[in-house]
Amino acid sequence: MNTERIFRNNSVPDRRTVMNVAVGDIVVMKKNHPCGNNEFDVLRVGMDFKIRCRKCGHEVMVSRAKAEKNIKKIMKGQGEDNA
Ligand SMILES: [Zn+2]
Repeated sequence: MNTERIFRNNSVPDRRTVMNVAVGDIVVMKKNHPCGNNEFDVLRVGMDFKIRCRKCGHEVMVSRAKAEKNIKKIMKGQGEDNA
């Protein structure tokens, strides 16, 4: 099911805040994890993101809005979906 491809119509049209984060990607966050690392594996996307610290392995659930605010960079993990 490709529900991820359905975008809501009420988003501001000229400012694309929807980030193309997919499972398997690595996100670099603006804020470091307490362990000092700021790279996280993306385990799940949806209304919430589930991410795992690449250093200490701690898993965190964070709302999409909050995650998108904190993402500095997305590194495409597996490159399966390069449309
Ligand atoms: Zn950590």
